[in-house]
Amino acid sequence: MSKVVKFGGSSLADAKQFQKVADIIKADPERHFVVVSAPGKRNDKDTKVTDMLYKTYALAEDDKNFSKELAAIEARYNEIIKGLKLKLSLKEEFEKIEENFKAKAGSDYAASRGEYLNGIIMSNYLGFEFVDPAEVILFDDDGSFDAEMTNRKVSKRLRGVENAVISGFYGAYENGKIKTFSRGGSDITGSIVARAIHADVYENWTDVSGFLVTDPRIIDKPAPIETITYTELRELAYMGASVLHEDAIFPVRKEGIPINIRNTNSPEDAGTWIVESTAKKSKYTITGIAGKKGFCCVNISKDMMNSEVGYVRRVLQAFEDQNISIEHVPSGIDTMTVFVAQEEFIDKEQAVVSEIHRLAKPDLLEIESDLALIAVVGRGMKRQRGTAARIFSALAHVSVNVRMIDQGSSELNIIIGVENRDFEKAIKAIYDIFVVTQL
Ligand code: ASP
Repeated sequence: MSKVVKFGGSSLADAKQFQKVADIIKADPERHFVVVSAPGKRNDKDTKVTDMLYKTYALAEDDKNFSKELAAIEARYNEIIKGLKLKLSLKEEFEKIEENFKAKAGSDYAASRGEYLNGIIMSNYLGFEFVDPAEVILFDDDGSFDAEMTNRKVSKRLRGVENAVISGFYGAYENGKIKTFSRGGSDITGSIVARAIHADVYENWTDVSGFLVTDPRIIDKPAPIETITYTELRELAYMGASVLHEDAIFPVRKEGIPINIRNTNSPEDAGTWIVESTAKKSKYTITGIAGKKGFCCVNISKDMMNSEVGYVRRVLQAFEDQNISIEHVPSGIDTMTVFVAQEEFIDKEQAVVSEIHRLAKPDLLEIESDLALIAVVGRGMKRQRGTAARIFSALAHVSVNVRMIDQGSSELNIIIGVENRDFEKAIKAIYDIFVVTQL
C-alpha cells in the first residue's frame, strides 16, 4: 500500500502545525509521498505566505523597494525552522529569490516560492528526499497542463524512491519557466502524484473533517458526509461547496483512486471519502445541499415554440455571441427560460435582448433578477420516490416560492430557483426535512 498525503496551508502555518503533520506521517508507514502547500494563516488576522509573495513581487515589478516585505517572509520561514530546531539556513535561497524578483522572473515564480521553501523545510524535517515539481510537472506553451507527459515524468522520477516531499501548486514550461496552477492548486499536485505512483489512496489533509451536508454558515454544525462520489462532488462544488480544488479530482479519477479528506487538527476523525462509485448508501436520501445567489433569468415565450425547429439554438446563440455562459435552461411547450449569472449578464443585457429579438422573434421576453439556485444532490435520490415532493412541501411549509425546478436526467440532482432573500430559509427547510427529521 502506498499513500500520497497532501497538507494545506493551515496545516503548515507554523512549527506546531509542522509537528502535527510529522506525527501524522510517522503514524502510518504507508504515507510515502508528501505534497505541501505554502504556510497559511496562523489566525484570522494573519496573511498567507502566498499572498505576501504576490504583494512583494508587485513592488518588484514596479521597481519599488521590497526588502522589508521579503524580510517579513523570510522571518516566517525562520520562525518555523527555529521552532523545529533544524540546522537549515534559507539565506542563499532568499538571496536568489531577491535577485530573481529584481530580474522580474514573473508572479508565478514569485508565488511558487511559498511551496518551494516549505518543501525544503519539510523534507529536511522528515529526512525525506525533496522533489522540485519544476522538473516533472509540465505545462504546454499555451499554458495548459500537460497531463500525460507529467504523469510519465513524475512516475519515472519517483520510481525506486522510498519517501519524498514534493512542493505543491506549480510546475514549469518546457523551457524551465515556472508556472502555477490556479489558487489552491496544491490539491491538484497531490492528485497528480497519486496518479503517477498508482497510490491506493490520496489523503488530503486540511482544517476541516471533510465535507458537510451543507454550508456551516447557514446551518449550525451540519452533519458530515462520509462518502461522496466524484460526480456528486462536482455538482456541489459547482454550486459553491469548496474544500478541494475543482480540478483535483481529474488525475485520480483516471486511475480510480479514492480521495480521503482529513483534518490535521483532528486526525482521529474519519473525514470524507471521495470515490468513483459506491454501493454504500448515504446516511440520508440526499448527500448534500449547496447553492449560490446572484442569478438572472430571461423568460421567453412564443406560440408554437415546440414545433419550430432550431428555436432554442437561436435563443442561446444570442448569449454565446456575447460570451455569456448559461447555467440552466428549463423549458415548457411554448416557453423557455435561460438562467445566467447576474454579474456576467447585467452589462450586456440589452445587447442580448436585441439579438434574441432579431434571431428568434419571441412574443414575449422578460428579465427577472436577484434569484438564487440551490442544488440538492444525492445518488440516493434515484431509487427513492417522493424526493421532489418532500423538497417542495418543505419549501411551501416555510412559504418559499419556487421559481424554477430542474431535475437532471441522471436523477443525481434537483436544482431549485428561489428569490435571493429566500435562499437561507430554503436551505434550512431542505436540510430539516432530510437530515434533522430524516423523513
Ligand atoms: N499556496 C497556494 C494558494 O494559497 C496554493 C495552495 O495552497 O494550494 O493558493
